[in-house]
Amino acid sequence: MKKLLVVGAHSGDFVWRAAGTLAKTIEEGGTTLVVAMSYGERGESGELWKEDPNRTEESVKIIRREQANKAADIIGTPIHFLDWGDYPMLLTDERIKQLTDIIGDFEPTVILTHSEKDPFNPDHPLAFQAVQRARLLSSGAGVPSAFKNINPPAWYSFEPHQPELSGFIPDTFIDISSVINKKIAAMDCMGAQNYLKDYYFELASRRANHARRISGKKEIKFAEALQSLVPRVISSIF
Ligand SMILES: [Zn+2]
Repeated sequence: MKKLLVVGAHSGDFVWRAAGTLAKTIEEGGTTLVVAMSYGERGESGELWKEDPNRTEESVKIIRREQANKAADIIGTPIHFLDWGDYPMLLTDERIKQLTDIIGDFEPTVILTHSEKDPFNPDHPLAFQAVQRARLLSSGAGVPSAFKNINPPAWYSFEPHQPELSGFIPDTFIDISSVINKKIAAMDCMGAQNYLKDYYFELASRRANHARRISGKKEIKFAEALQSLVPRVISSIF
């Protein structure tokens, strides 16, 4: 069962950090769901605010929602917006329950989210904590309980913008060569963060260089890097 859940603090996070892995999962016949905890209307929409200083938060949210919807359409994934607000995002028991219910309903086999640390962003580590808690609540109790229990999903961090300073050590590389055009097209939708496009294209090329050296697979031209957060259990060493 290939069921991939990608949880981002802001509506653009899934595009920069996991669009290739999402598109690849869909190409392989898997099912995906993106959860955007906020629209990133305050902290990650600088270009929109610059264009028009009279903009309201509500109008920025609408634009950000349209952009993320377009990007998700290109990748072929459903996207669910929670509108929790950003900078600062706040967690409540109710929000943890909301996320736990989403995980219980979708029953992902793999979850991707932010890294545990990010010294430049207050919301990304908070998203990590929310996912950590909701994943445990939906799968870790180990005994029949008052809420639905699913098999524990594999769990990874996707690559943060400043990996070294965020304590991100990639140990898993996804070959996204066959879907790089989808990632580029999805990134094109995110007008609010245009400057990131070249950066993440170059990063995919650099990570492919690492993936080629590790695996000897010369056909890998573009890759996304992940860090596993829980051990994986395999049925055979081969
Ligand atoms: Zn973000």
